[in-house]
Amino acid sequence: MSEAPSSGTPYPYDAPASQVLFDRAAAVTPGGVNSPVRAFRAVGGTPRFMVSGTGPYLTDADGREYVDLVCSWGPMILGHSHPEVVAAVQDAVSRGTSFGTPGEGEVALAEEMVDRIEPLEQVRLVSSGTEATMSAIRLARGFTQRSKVIKFAGCYHGHVDSLLAAAGSGVATFALPDTPGVTGAQAGDTIVLPYNDLESVHEAFHRYPGEIACVITEASPGNMGVVPPLPGFNQGLKDACRENGALYISDEVMTGFRTSRAGWYGVDGVRPDLMTFGKVMGGGFPAAAFGGRADVMAHLAPAGPVYQAGTLSGNPVATAAGLAQLRLLDEAAYDKVNAVSQAIQSLVTEALTKEGVAHRLQNASNMFSVFFTDREVRNYEDAKRQESFRFTAFFHSMLAQGVYLPPSSFESWFVSTAHDERAVQRIADALPAAARAAAEATAA
Ligand SMILES: *Cc1c(COP(=O)(O)O)cnc(C)c1O
Repeated sequence: MSEAPSSGTPYPYDAPASQVLFDRAAAVTPGGVNSPVRAFRAVGGTPRFMVSGTGPYLTDADGREYVDLVCSWGPMILGHSHPEVVAAVQDAVSRGTSFGTPGEGEVALAEEMVDRIEPLEQVRLVSSGTEATMSAIRLARGFTQRSKVIKFAGCYHGHVDSLLAAAGSGVATFALPDTPGVTGAQAGDTIVLPYNDLESVHEAFHRYPGEIACVITEASPGNMGVVPPLPGFNQGLKDACRENGALYISDEVMTGFRTSRAGWYGVDGVRPDLMTFGKVMGGGFPAAAFGGRADVMAHLAPAGPVYQAGTLSGNPVATAAGLAQLRLLDEAAYDKVNAVSQAIQSLVTEALTKEGVAHRLQNASNMFSVFFTDREVRNYEDAKRQESFRFTAFFHSMLAQGVYLPPSSFESWFVSTAHDERAVQRIADALPAAARAAAEATAA
């Protein structure tokens, strides 16, 4: 278990302190983790227990330092422990951590969001992206007085019961639940369609006239790897919704305040009826939101009849962190993140090309991922056709050399303003051996 990392052997190194923690965790927590992807099941091996993060680096329980290309799955767009975010949090904490009353911090955060995103007229703060999408769907159903929801295979909207139905491709097939515990009734109003296929959307509206409350889509999907919308796809969804009296919900939990100052809306300009946010807006704390058209949001309690609530919603510490982070995210910051993202993408392509590994780098602004296939990936079926075993070898070689990638080939990679030349050089130094490992990998 201690071979040289360049050998291409799947797990060529030890992580004894992480292993001890993982064993302790497994005794008290299912699978040893509090969110499944963290367990390394897709790539094997021992998940690294991190003890600290600074700028672009994470340090694990064994004292090993990694260049972090996960950034907490997106939120840490300024890097870890950014001094101004930390100061804002310390200042907020010193004044108390939760009041269960309204406070100025949540107003200021909502104002900052509304100011950045033109179609966002009103927002409601919640504590997770899951809550945001769940509440947006409830509101869309309440507003339209319809029950059916269109979602796309491979799009993830959190673990909302009715949205955990991604199985069942083909036009307008009612989804079967993806997981035990979600009943047929909960999934039965969800219509799952192939991503980037407008024809199937038109067919579904035709087949269920007056029944579809909303279409929910990732603004630009990052949860099946990065699969951007084809030109005109989002606009086509918006038009189909308008023509059929349904709401267009753009899930920007991942893309919001990451892909531009105004998220993916700032990139494609398609005006959603409702939007959802999380990740970057919380500055590393549990803060999320949904919002959009004021006339729709007016249906939400206590202004309107659709109920929604949360004990810790608009928490003063979380909103202080989010606001501090957003205020630092000016155009220059996005230029920096985009540039470093481009640089890393070029390095990855160069290394894999040199070793003759079939691959596709796909990006959406500064989000990107590599698919081990030579064909364009336009939907979930395409994404599943990649040679994931090559990613496993690539991942472990990078990890052994101190670069922390998302532990699955179906996830976006994330960078931050803190990824400087030294961090990029460390990635560059690790890539040749990892590309070789990918080239030499064989299917299990
Ligand atoms: C992460 C994510 C969610 C869920 O957010 P949580 O805070 O994990 O509940 C929803 N939608 C998208 C697009 C996401 O990337």
